[in-house]
Amino acid sequence: SDLGALVAAQSVCRACPRLVEWREEVATVKRRAFAQETYWGRPIAGWGDERPQVLIVGLAPAAHGGNRTGRIFTGDRSGDWLFASLYRTGLAAQETSVRAGDGQRLIGARMVAAVRCAPPANKPEPAERAACSPWLAREIALASAGLRVVVALGGFAWQAVWPALRDAGYTLPRPRPPFGHGAEVEIVSPEGAAVRLLGCYHPSQQNTFTGRVTERMLDDVFTRANVLRGL
Ligand code: SF4
Repeated sequence: SDLGALVAAQSVCRACPRLVEWREEVATVKRRAFAQETYWGRPIAGWGDERPQVLIVGLAPAAHGGNRTGRIFTGDRSGDWLFASLYRTGLAAQETSVRAGDGQRLIGARMVAAVRCAPPANKPEPAERAACSPWLAREIALASAGLRVVVALGGFAWQAVWPALRDAGYTLPRPRPPFGHGAEVEIVSPEGAAVRLLGCYHPSQQNTFTGRVTERMLDDVFTRANVLRGL
């Protein structure tokens, strides 16, 4: 399939030297708790429904999360928060996402990272965001037929998703509205369908630990996504 070809092509991408070095170093050194595991150590593909109504755009894989398990938001704290909310709101089949083969699946939803390789300190650079943008644009274009909602998790994903949507053929308002939790922008797909872009604070450990993001706040956004996809 086109999506299979995309996954295969991105899995060998080495366009960002800093990130290639980091993803591979982490996969070699490992964290003690995961010493027996073979880390993925490569770009993280989009994951979920192949014909999604809801596309969730994250920041980048965690060094010992997605970069270890090979699946986005799988095996780290941010993912625990995110999947629990998706489960409560009917977008995921299980409450947790532990590893490939755990039975987890997304329901009418797909996840993709704005930057597909794990960055040092979870902070990709703008140049790396730009380098990875064509992958995101291709993923959006392939998902576009039935897409109704795009959820950007955090300001970085919000920044990343605008050029990728534009390159995927979407019509976007100008000027670009600022990111915020609960921000909602109407955009138009290449097929002429009304699509909503939603902003949501990222469920990073820093945000969840400080209470900047609560379960309720995540549930509100994904409940809204569920309403919009049914319209
Ligand atoms: Fe390639 Fe994206 Fe990884 Fe950079 S972050 S090496 S563009 S897959």
